[in-house]
Amino acid sequence: ATPTAVMVATGVGANNGVLIKGGDALERAQKVKYVIFDKTGTLTQGKATVTTVKLFTQEMDRGDFLRLLASAEASSEHPLGKAIVEYARHFQFFDPNATTKDSHKDNESLMSGWLLDVSDFSAIPGRGVGCYIDGKQVLVGNRSLLTENGITIPTNVEDFVVELEENAKTGILVACDTQLIGVVGVADPLKREAAVVVEGLKKMGIRPIMVTGDNWRTAKAVAKEVDIDDIRAEVMPAGKADVIRSFQKDGSIVAMVGDGINDSPALAAADVGIAIGAGTDIAIEAADYVLMRNNLEDVITAIDLSRKTFTRIR
Ligand code: ADP
Ligand code: MG
Repeated sequence: ATPTAVMVATGVGANNGVLIKGGDALERAQKVKYVIFDKTGTLTQGKATVTTVKLFTQEMDRGDFLRLLASAEASSEHPLGKAIVEYARHFQFFDPNATTKDSHKDNESLMSGWLLDVSDFSAIPGRGVGCYIDGKQVLVGNRSLLTENGITIPTNVEDFVVELEENAKTGILVACDTQLIGVVGVADPLKREAAVVVEGLKKMGIRPIMVTGDNWRTAKAVAKEVDIDDIRAEVMPAGKADVIRSFQKDGSIVAMVGDGINDSPALAAADVGIAIGAGTDIAIEAADYVLMRNNLEDVITAIDLSRKTFTRIR
């Protein structure tokens, strides 16, 4: 392809909301054999919603539980943490027992007045969050977070979480001072175009793959909905780049599509890194392509454009 052809293609991309950072990336995309999708925020909308709140303690009511939970997640930047805080915000607003009701205060200050004081907050990537409230250690996250902190998960709780996961939901476990006190179920719907794009890639001779930090059961349920049969789950943030490299081993050209901070090493490692425009700045910086319309169909647009620009018609 001539430099003019590359310029034209870059312009066509831009008109379609596909930002291409350089001619090399444009050229590599035509040869893509695998497209590896991140799950949360890429295949899914990244707008998690709390669907279930289940207490496994008699010592607290729902209001106390949500207050503790939202306080622990208040500083979290993770979509799951935000979903929990958002749910609690609505709950406290309609809570007849909330004493902070004051018509002169806005929603935000009502919320901050309702939350408990937190110390030693820490976010553990791929695991969850931990902090101290009232001198008690509070942990919110997945099984690994709890077991690594010496907390055993009772069978009835495990069964409950398994059921959530089989329904494509993520089960978030909550512990207070080594006691498992509750579980929150969170749903994150697929993007409307996700399944169509997966099918389209297959028709183009490209293999779609899903990679996620989420657990295997939820990952499988979500992958089934979009008809992806090759998945890698429970992958730690650093491990996503290793997944990319494993597919590159035989010389295959690999594209990665992601949105999160934890996707940026993988986006950089991929031959073609594709960031969702609504994703984090770090992901956008690490990528070769940015999808400004946040529409997965533009993964196909990008590969098509490269093929049309670089493949000679014989
Ligand atoms: P993904 O690769 O799907 O974007 P992450 O690596 O960010 O997932 O997180 C993996 C898992 O760690 C989540 O599915 C969740 O179980 C747990 N987790 C991470 N952050 C939080 C949080 N703030 N609150 C609760 N759980 C969390
Ligand atoms: Mg993500």
